[in-house]
Amino acid sequence: METSQNNISNELLNLIDESEEFLKSQQIIYGEDIFLDFDAALLSLPPQERKRKVLADLFYRVRKCQNCALAAKRKHMVFGSGNAETEIMVIGEAPGFYEDQKGLPFVGEAGKLLDKILAAIDLSRDNLFITNVLKCRPPENRDPDINEKSACFPILVEQIKIIKPKFILILGRIAAHSLLNMDGSLTALRNKVYDIYDAKALVTYHPAALLRDASKKRETWQDVQLFQKLIKEA
Ligand code: SF4
Repeated sequence: METSQNNISNELLNLIDESEEFLKSQQIIYGEDIFLDFDAALLSLPPQERKRKVLADLFYRVRKCQNCALAAKRKHMVFGSGNAETEIMVIGEAPGFYEDQKGLPFVGEAGKLLDKILAAIDLSRDNLFITNVLKCRPPENRDPDINEKSACFPILVEQIKIIKPKFILILGRIAAHSLLNMDGSLTALRNKVYDIYDAKALVTYHPAALLRDASKKRETWQDVQLFQKLIKEA
């Protein structure tokens, strides 16, 4: 009897923690008004469905985002895709031409190469969530500027807080600078394990960079093997 009361109390405390976290994260993105939109019915859903629902809710809230100048020229806002239940997120820099056309992350040649890299370590898009730091395409695929990055970053933080990954593979220098909050070349940033957002994170080359310079494939292979080792050891 006492054990079952303890279990119920723990579940209630977890629900309260999760609701507080949800409200705080929504407030970061949307300000005080978000409290009007809080869906109390969420709390009655099983945790798995709650995650999918909250992620879908975030998508519907931000898909028409106008918070930076990139909104004007995009065809699609690229939210990200994959499994909301995953423990693994893969995070790149920004959508390119094909991603903007289709509204999906990592399509085109870079996407195909990413799929091959993931398959080599027994991962696929079904068991992870892929997104970018920037959700809209910078013209001519230029580097995003500071205003664009700071306008968009809260959406990524919100995605991470909803999914709660244990492992994050960061693709490319720009994504690494934003997520790790540090500068430096990709060579200096890779081959280290970082603790961010309660997850273990590794940095490797963006597949688009590998298409331009195949000599980086060897180091990428070393990085993803280390990533696989982290996952297996957990
Ligand atoms: S890049 Fe991000 S902040 Fe800018 S319009 Fe797109 S979704 Fe909004």
